[in-house]
Amino acid sequence: MSIIVRIPSPLRRFTDSQATVEVSAKTVQDALSAVILKYQDLRFHLYGDDGELRNFVNVYVGENDIRQLKGMDTPLTDGDEVLIIPSIAGGKENGPIFEREEYLRYSRHFSLPEIGLEGQKKLKQASVLVVGVGGLGCPVAIYLAAAGVGRIGLVDFDVVDLSNLQRQILYSSKDVGKPKLRIARERLEGINPKVQVAAHEEPFSSVNAVQILAGYDLVIDGTDNFPTRYLVNDVSVFQGKPNVYGSIFRFEGQVSIFHAKEGPCYRCLYATPPPPGLVPSCAEGGVLGVLPGIVGSLQAAEAIKWITGIGDPLIGRLLLFDALSMTFREVRLEKNDDCVVCGKNPTIVEPIDYEGFCGVSGTAETVNVPEIDVHEVKQKLDRGDDVTILDVREQWEWQIAHLDEAHFIPMNSIPSRLDELSPSGEIVVHCHSGKRSASITEYLIKQGYTDVKSMAGGIRAWTIEVDPSLNLY
Ligand SMILES: [Zn+2]
Repeated sequence: MSIIVRIPSPLRRFTDSQATVEVSAKTVQDALSAVILKYQDLRFHLYGDDGELRNFVNVYVGENDIRQLKGMDTPLTDGDEVLIIPSIAGGKENGPIFEREEYLRYSRHFSLPEIGLEGQKKLKQASVLVVGVGGLGCPVAIYLAAAGVGRIGLVDFDVVDLSNLQRQILYSSKDVGKPKLRIARERLEGINPKVQVAAHEEPFSSVNAVQILAGYDLVIDGTDNFPTRYLVNDVSVFQGKPNVYGSIFRFEGQVSIFHAKEGPCYRCLYATPPPPGLVPSCAEGGVLGVLPGIVGSLQAAEAIKWITGIGDPLIGRLLLFDALSMTFREVRLEKNDDCVVCGKNPTIVEPIDYEGFCGVSGTAETVNVPEIDVHEVKQKLDRGDDVTILDVREQWEWQIAHLDEAHFIPMNSIPSRLDELSPSGEIVVHCHSGKRSASITEYLIKQGYTDVKSMAGGIRAWTIEVDPSLNLY
């Protein structure tokens, strides 16, 4: 009697990709035995150690579940079709089952009743987008890959810098100068070859964000700047997806889940960004190397909990961590009904110009900041021009390297120490790479200073191009 056995796609790798196997059999039992005789690796996937069909494997004859017939003894007639359907009870197809190696790999999850086989399947079916593969993104991506999240998308376009290695644990010294995503992908696939890693090697921007996030179930915010943070928030609200938020500064971190369907979004918490220059970046303000490891791990834990549906998510709660006092605090976050993206009458329904919104690039109030090249500064000093070199960096930076001629006033002290600067004299402002000096130059011009310029590229450019004897940092 000729019977067709239909093999579900996850099991076809054990049947030389055959979707159907023709056997001769009088009962379902005979038919499955005949298939296993032909493709022996299937046995483990269909039967448990007790010789019974695994409880997530259902078998149908035609349209009928054999449990409603005579089970494995259900008789077959010529031309019958036997369908193998991996499932939970109910006969609905329920995604992947695991390869032999994965049973051991995830055994510590399987033995947690809260996760178990079903939770692990959810992880395998899940897809997570990690925006920014730096301090936060590294531990997040490592733990998600290790946990068996089926598809992980990475967004970044940086190359590995020596100063990253103090905290960005996907990268090694030999990777300096190489694209981060290439290294990250290799490392993650090395940790778990069962996960798919997609590299989006481009800035996450208003142009591509909607399209990129559309392919994922949730997003993890590993960004280090306000424009991208607001963009991640807004797009996750548009698409109704949770945004697992983390941020770090010096010794402190914050974690939450912004999921506008059930709670507040990031804009409910911070309707507008701080003015540029008020909050220093991690490069300027510093960050304890282990801090993103802790905060990123908390984000990964929240993502895994959300995917598997266990525990209490950090929705509507902001977790505050302080590494110096080694304390966690929690504050409640309320949804803002007037929120421009997730409130009752949202006015922002598609990505906006986030650089402009955060004042990072030109807005009406900014002035064009005059710049001066490091070589020109050198000439001025060599000629003995009457010029004030104003160093606006922090004390620790001054100690690493400085120009002997410079007048040192950290940027936050400038407003209270203006009397040290002559309004009509020539001033060249410098910092590490040119950002802080640009905002101080702008500030001084608005205060009425007439001859102020920002040294392009900062002391970094000076060290590389003019005086390599200084320490580069
Ligand atoms: Zn909101």
